[in-house]
Amino acid sequence: NSETNTFHSLRPPIHLPPQHLPISASEYAFSLRVNSPWLDSLALINSSTGQRVSYSEFTLKTKTLASYLHSVLGLSKGHTAFVLSQNLVQVPILYFSLLSLGIVISPANPLSTESEISSLIQLCNPVIAFATSSTAHKLSNISLRFKTIVLDSPEFDSMMTSPVQMIEPVEVSQSDLAAILYSSGTTGRVKGVMLTHRNLIASVAGPYASRTERESPAVFLYTMPYFHVFGFFYSLKSVALSEVVVLMERFDLTKMLKAVEEFRVTHLAMAPPVVVAMAKTDVTKGYDLSSLEGVACGAAPIAKDVISDFLAKFPRVVFVQGYGLTESTGSACRTVGQEETFHWGATGKLAGGFEAKIINPDTGDALPPGKQGELWIRGPSIMKGYIGDPEATSATLVAGGWLRTGDLCYIDEEGFLFVVDRLKELIKYKAYQVAPAELEHLLQSHPEIVDAAVIPYPDEEAGQVPMAFVVRQPRCSLSEEEIIDFVAKQVAPYKKIRRVTFVNSLPKSAAGKLLRKDLRKIVYANSSSR
Ligand code: AMP
Repeated sequence: NSETNTFHSLRPPIHLPPQHLPISASEYAFSLRVNSPWLDSLALINSSTGQRVSYSEFTLKTKTLASYLHSVLGLSKGHTAFVLSQNLVQVPILYFSLLSLGIVISPANPLSTESEISSLIQLCNPVIAFATSSTAHKLSNISLRFKTIVLDSPEFDSMMTSPVQMIEPVEVSQSDLAAILYSSGTTGRVKGVMLTHRNLIASVAGPYASRTERESPAVFLYTMPYFHVFGFFYSLKSVALSEVVVLMERFDLTKMLKAVEEFRVTHLAMAPPVVVAMAKTDVTKGYDLSSLEGVACGAAPIAKDVISDFLAKFPRVVFVQGYGLTESTGSACRTVGQEETFHWGATGKLAGGFEAKIINPDTGDALPPGKQGELWIRGPSIMKGYIGDPEATSATLVAGGWLRTGDLCYIDEEGFLFVVDRLKELIKYKAYQVAPAELEHLLQSHPEIVDAAVIPYPDEEAGQVPMAFVVRQPRCSLSEEEIIDFVAKQVAPYKKIRRVTFVNSLPKSAAGKLLRKDLRKIVYANSSSR
């Protein structure tokens, strides 16, 4: 019976404000720190420039900027702002200002190409864009009906600091849209994930409920970008927990290690490739990393031997894992404390407020502990849907409010989640999402290509790389390099095709549907026999 096979969170319950209470996600994060012993501690440090912002400056700048955006630029509740920036201290200040006004934030990867950006803009329909001196040019050729503001400019500085008549707080409902982030979900091209203020509030409430008492604020170095769901909700979580956030504009392993030493970083949040490099190479030699207390890793699978090598090298560091999706506003599951890390392979227990089912993909039945099936999750941080795409929304958010994750998982008797494989099409290159459908469409647009399919190919450093199976026109001599080049010119670097195999035809079902599973079987058989 499916009710008996529903898994409930075993963590302490989270306390959310009553649903009807108007409160924005930014106001909620600020409200959690009113009793903090470190009201005026440091909030942000840019490790590249040394720029620092204290919490009192952060609060003041957020309010000043919100007043300017509303009174001078005429932005108001319901508008959308597109953000194209690397990690700068201006970004969380901007996020908090926009959230307080009820303006929807739509942040994108600053490496995106102009054509990628223009399709995202069509999805989110912004009235304003915030870019940087290195990304603004990408917006200049797109026929925008709006102004672009450069974040690392004197103009933006004065928007955050010039005296301006402070506006009255805007009433924001928890059910209002707060953000549109991008994900390809279980199938097809990139879609806009709609997250509400309630979703964000719930994602912050989990880590807040499981916080530990500290003598001094935690110093968190973010390697993940602010446009990805982990960076996005962490920007709120860090304020709620009065953490000092150390930012890196562009990720670089040795600069990260230098920053840990220089700023006495206590916690690192990172994706598996960085853990692999720290665990398996001697890059860390010569750096004083004695301030490190914890590492949080998530966004893609990590092998057990990587974690054990990491812990052998850094025995004092508590290593925790999290599992989540853009569609669940980040972590739906996490380990707590070192003992849970030794529950090898587990990505943790369901976070407070979450429920899960493991569904047999063939029968639709909910399965008991220990059995593998598709993970479905439910809880207050599950997205509202995909913007402008009711079909994709109803295929992903099913009756009863369950989100189909597209991940093959099982939950053991103790409530630990194990991610076994990905049933969905998504490729994760260094934890970045690559949608096969997008690359297939590009390949198919080449006059000498008859058909193409893209699947993940296992890679030790990146986790997975995109690999193409290509059917060429008869007597065509198009080479692997030419194909790689053709795609590379049109996509952000992390989406590049890195392997090509030529085939005479692609496996299809009787109805003409591409059978990626068959291609994956060939790849996995070959890669494991080497
Ligand atoms: P994103 O929306 O970019 O966060 O991608 C979500 C997907 O990343 C999930 O559906 C999983 O396939 C994968 N993922 C996230 N965290 C983990 C983890 N700890 N272990 C394995 N896969 C993960």
